[in-house]
Amino acid sequence: MTTPQRHLPSIERLVSAVAADLPLPRPTIVGLARLLVEKIRQRAGEVPAFDTIVALLRHDIALLLAPSLRPVINASGVLLQTNLGRAPLSQAARHALQHGAGSVNIEYDLAAGGRGERSVHLAGLLRHLSGAEAAIAVNNNAAAILLTLTGLAHGREVIVSRGQAVEIGGGFRIPDVLRQSGATLVEVGTTNRTYVRDYAEAITERTAMILQVHTSNFRMQGFVHHAELSELAELAHQRGILLVDNLGSGSFIDVSTYGLVAEPLVPDRIKAGADVVCFSGDKLIGGPQAGIIIGKHAQIARLAKHPLMRAIRLDKLAIAAMQATLQSYVTQTAPTDIPIWQMMSRSSDELYHRATAIAQLLPAPWQVRACTSTIGGGSLPGETLPSWALVCPHPHPDLLAQQLRHAPIPIIGRIQDDALWLDLRSVAPSDDAVITTTLGAHSLQ
Ligand SMILES: *Cc1c(COP(=O)(O)O)cnc(C)c1O
Repeated sequence: MTTPQRHLPSIERLVSAVAADLPLPRPTIVGLARLLVEKIRQRAGEVPAFDTIVALLRHDIALLLAPSLRPVINASGVLLQTNLGRAPLSQAARHALQHGAGSVNIEYDLAAGGRGERSVHLAGLLRHLSGAEAAIAVNNNAAAILLTLTGLAHGREVIVSRGQAVEIGGGFRIPDVLRQSGATLVEVGTTNRTYVRDYAEAITERTAMILQVHTSNFRMQGFVHHAELSELAELAHQRGILLVDNLGSGSFIDVSTYGLVAEPLVPDRIKAGADVVCFSGDKLIGGPQAGIIIGKHAQIARLAKHPLMRAIRLDKLAIAAMQATLQSYVTQTAPTDIPIWQMMSRSSDELYHRATAIAQLLPAPWQVRACTSTIGGGSLPGETLPSWALVCPHPHPDLLAQQLRHAPIPIIGRIQDDALWLDLRSVAPSDDAVITTTLGAHSLQ
């Protein structure tokens, strides 16, 4: 004996069951109901009970209306976590986003009462901070590289050291971008050693530029030689070609003051003679996602006029947040105001005290343990900062991690040595209370 196969409910009946108490136009609900019924039809097997289908429909509607981009607490100990939006913005940048949200004079000259230039909002600040003659900003550094190569080297040759023809992440590889831009890659030197003479021998009448790429996500040690940027600038300019420097992160603050290996400083690259320098807005600059391109008037003007520029230009919200971020460097308040530098400057003692203060309010299994944070975001590979974490030994740390991801404000930790670690260096002190409440509320069995 088999139970009779249930029939799929009519769309009309389903919609009527939910429409009364939902603030949605009926055609929208009809559309979602159709999709759901079709999904059930295609899924071979028994048709669920009517009430179950109604519940599924309510779930689909709730999912559609819930914000999926949610604030989370980054307790991973990776300060620039790309999957968590890289650099958190300063308060000033957050305020600026509010101003940027409405109608703004993004391309309107208020003095003249006519069309203005989008680039003016950041160019002055970037010139001041870097010493470069000109500056533009685009969607991200990947776009900055694509524009620079397309605009300045299309149909010509670009010389790159073999040690720098790298993959940056997410499948973004220097040789691929070069091909995409219509330029020809000419690799010189060897993986570990490239000399100025290697570049010199590769220059032909087809050469447009030497491209220097910061190897930001790995570090080579031992029998290694790189040509100095200033030597390459001298060579390039003697031979009438350009020197372009992809800095990756770039920084306006010397990270060695935080006990880390030095990361190139943006003004030093201009001083060394690079014609064009590009870097990310949301790594060590600590701003919104952006690609900054600075350099000589002639080259920046050419890039600004390139048709690709229109496709990758920065939007008003990012411009607003970037302007506020850059202003913090001008006023020299960046170390205290921009979250990435706040994270860097937290002392081990301070983190220990925060961790013990939280642990005192938690059930026994939570412990305070020393750990190390990393910088992340493809910058400062292998570099760590001492930190303190809340650690919960747990038979299933992944289960506990999952519970914390489902909290009203999800907490993202890391699993290490069969325990869940919540590293406080990447957590703002103002989030300690949320961590305490969330951990206190979760069963640890
Ligand atoms: C991060 C990085 C990029 C890509 O920058 P995005 O802003 O993420 O697009 C390119 N090159 C280098 C060397 C990098 O480190």
